[in-house]
Parts: sequence; C-alpha cells; structure tokens
Amino acid sequence: MEKLIFEKSKPGRKGFTLPNLDIPAADLNALLPEKFLRKNANSLPEVSENEISRHYIRLSQLNYNIEQGFYPLGSCTMKYNPKVNEKTAGMGGFTELHPCSEDVHAQGALQLMFELGEGLKEITGLQGVSLQPSAGSQGELAGILMFRAYHLDRNDAKRTNILIPDSAHGTNPASAAIAGFNVISIKSKEDGSIDIEDLRSKADDTCAGMMITNPSTIGIFEKQIVEIEKIIHGVGGLLYMDGANLNSLLGIVRPGDMGFDCVHINLHKTFSTPHGGGGPGAGPVCVSDKLVPFLPIPQIKKEGEAYQLVMDCPKTIGKMHTFFGNFGVLVRAYTYMRMLGAKGLREVSENAIINANYLMALLKDEYEFPYKEFCMHECVLSADRQKENGVSAKDIAKRLLDYGFHAPTIYFPLIVHESMLVEPTETETIESLNSFADAMIKISQEAKTNPDLVTSAPQNAPLKRLDDALAARKLNIKWS
Ligand SMILES: *Cc1c(COP(=O)(O)O)cnc(C)c1O
Repeated sequence: MEKLIFEKSKPGRKGFTLPNLDIPAADLNALLPEKFLRKNANSLPEVSENEISRHYIRLSQLNYNIEQGFYPLGSCTMKYNPKVNEKTAGMGGFTELHPCSEDVHAQGALQLMFELGEGLKEITGLQGVSLQPSAGSQGELAGILMFRAYHLDRNDAKRTNILIPDSAHGTNPASAAIAGFNVISIKSKEDGSIDIEDLRSKADDTCAGMMITNPSTIGIFEKQIVEIEKIIHGVGGLLYMDGANLNSLLGIVRPGDMGFDCVHINLHKTFSTPHGGGGPGAGPVCVSDKLVPFLPIPQIKKEGEAYQLVMDCPKTIGKMHTFFGNFGVLVRAYTYMRMLGAKGLREVSENAIINANYLMALLKDEYEFPYKEFCMHECVLSADRQKENGVSAKDIAKRLLDYGFHAPTIYFPLIVHESMLVEPTETETIESLNSFADAMIKISQEAKTNPDLVTSAPQNAPLKRLDDALAARKLNIKWS
C-alpha cells in the first residue's frame, strides 16, 4: 500500500504561499481564553503541492463512481448526470443569489422553481407541488404530515394507521412512524403484487392512507392499482405513491391518473442530479386538490409576468427545510427536463425499461428470476442456484468489483431470497450491458468450478472484505 500523507511528511516542505501580513498581527492570547489555546503546535503533514495533489487524486481513484463505470444499483437510479446540468447550476446568477433577496431581485430563480414545479405537476398529473423537501424520505414525511393535517382538518381523529406493503422501501414505514402513525403491513402474493384480500381485511375507518411504490421495489407494475385506489378511497383514506421509481413512468403513466393523492419525486434519481454519499438531494411532492391547502410554505405564485413567494397559507404544515430546499439540485433537474423536453423524457423511461428487460433476457439461463414477467426499469434476480455451491448474493456482488463493476443492490427487496436488484438505467450502451452480463455469467460459472475464488472476492480491489457490522459500530476514520 502506498504511504499515507502523514507518513510522507518532512519538516519544512510546504504546498502553499501566503501573502505578507499587511495588518497588525492579532494577539491570540488576548483574544482567546487560556483553556482554548493550543499547548503544542498541531501536527499537520508537511508536504509539497505535488504530493498533496497526488494524495487526493489517488484517494479519488480508490472510489468507484458513475464517471468511471457501470453502476446498476437497483432502486437508486444511478444514471449518468449530464455535464450541462453542472454548467447551469454554476451560473453566477444562481450561485451568488442571496436566499433572503427580495422577490423582485430573484425573479429568475423564482421562475425556474415555478416552471420546474409546473413540469412536475404535468408529469405526475397532480394539482399542487412543493419543491422544498430535500430527499425522497423527507418528501414522504411531508406527504404523510399533509395526510394527517387533512384528516384533522375534517375533525377525523380516529385515523391512526398507515397501510404499507411488505415489499416497501424501509423509508416508507419510517416516515409513517415519525409522523405518529401505526404501520400496518400488507402481504405480497407469489407474483409480487399486493394481496388484495389482505388489504381489504385491514382497510377500515382507522386508515389514514396507504403508501405504495408503483412500479414496486421488485420492478413490476402493480396492475391492481385501480382496485387498490377504490378500496383506500372507499374507506376515506388517502393514497401515497413513493415515486422513487418514476424513471420508468415518465410520459407513459401519471400517478394522478392512477388516483394517487401525493407522490414524491427523487430529483436526484430520475432527474439526473449527482447523488450517493448522503446528498444533497431533492424530493419534491406533488399533491391532489384535497391536499393543496396543506402544502409546505412558501409557495411560489405567478401573477401576470411576476413571481412571488406566498407565506399566507393558513392550513400549511409549515416549513420542511430552510429557505427553498436544495436550490442547486433544482437547477440541475430543470436543465435536464428542458434539455430533453416531453418526448425525450418519455424516451428516458422507454430506454430504461428496454435496458432492464435486455439484461434480464441475457441472464435468465444462468440466474433464477423469481418474477418471470416483463419488468419495468429494474429486475430482481436471486442467487439461490449459486447458493447451492455456497456462493451468496454478497459474494457475487464482491466478485463484480474484480471485474470493474459497481455491485447491484443486494438483499433488497427483503421478500426475495439472496436477492440482487439490478437497475441498468437508460444511459448505458448495449456494449456496457453486454459486458456486465458477461461478468455475471462468468461469476456464475466460477461459482460451480471455483467457488472459493468467489467467496473470497474481491481479489483486486484496494481493500479486501471489510467487516461492515464492525465498521458501522466502531467507525474509526482517524489516522494514528
Ligand atoms: C431512494 C428511495 C427512497 C428514499 O429516497 P432518499 O432520497 O434516499 O431519501 C424511497 N423509496 C424508494 C423506493 C427509493 O428507491
């Protein structure tokens, strides 16, 4: 392993040049209380500019990223982020605008947010929007808080339950619980669809609403959605769509037409803004007429040619974020939407679906696919066959790193044994899909002929297998 920056340190080397001080030096002893003063000089590494530059470039190369290769991380939509998004997000008019500017001095930014919101309303077929939530999960919380406000506004306090299918993303039950609801789990059937009888038996006048993902987290379109909508609205509940999988629906199907009252959109997934490593993201929510009065504030209104922020919304759930959410992400998403236009957005989804089905076809002889029908933008396979030779989904994921690919999502969805959730996205060429499938097939063959090679993978990565449980519990990122 190459030496770390602290080990390269040599007294007197430096990589910076500071101008001479042209004001009197401050007397730190007079400024700071004794207890805050350093007793000994700090021991920062002393290195040249050349060495520090190599250090950081080397670190960046240890990290896998979407600029480097294929990233089939199911449910995360790790598509390539066009560079033009960065160009617009870096424009001075946006980066130098103070968030407390008067509306009249921020017309361009307000127009951008307004038009992005109108675009999202059109894509989802819904009547209201807030761009404020800063993640999909925060969009969920905003939506469920609006459900609560809606029922309480009608003096209907008995609705204490939110129904959620057992295939749901973990953030769904977490959001419902944080908003103060009990979570009632709804079973899935063999084919991955919702068990309507189970739903019927649990939907009554204690139901505040149901959260579902369509297409579901197994990548299959829930065909019973019309029936589900009737059941939930029939008992007076509201219907929430986790829109993180919107990458397969753009310009094809609208959540509003399916009867949803609220949907969050992960701009950092579907609308191509960089993500991973915890953000920043944006999880705008679109809502039906019923929920418009409860949307977060401020709202953006257009009067004539002028845009203004409106705070006077008496039934609002309040603010979800400081100022207007993560504005830079909104600029990137707006750029993406305008560059593609309506036709281009539909092509995004069509190509995402074709790519996922193509991979499924290439892999179906070698891997078990529990759901045989056509998938949407992602497909779930199981490593059950490879498991007979002692090779698990995790081992296959680790071996993929040796072949130069990021691993897919593993062990999610929870309802499939040894699951691997593969989402190729629309931005990959047929050549990259073919080489990923080749690697997957090779690994499956290795599982038969040389399982130890796979179970001890990765062989070529900068680090071997880490103890991830220990790393999470006793994280140590300090050099010593
Ligand atoms: C990513 C994702 C979420 C959560 O979105 P964040 O922006 O990470 O909070 C919720 N549901 C599904 C299905 C997702 O894929």
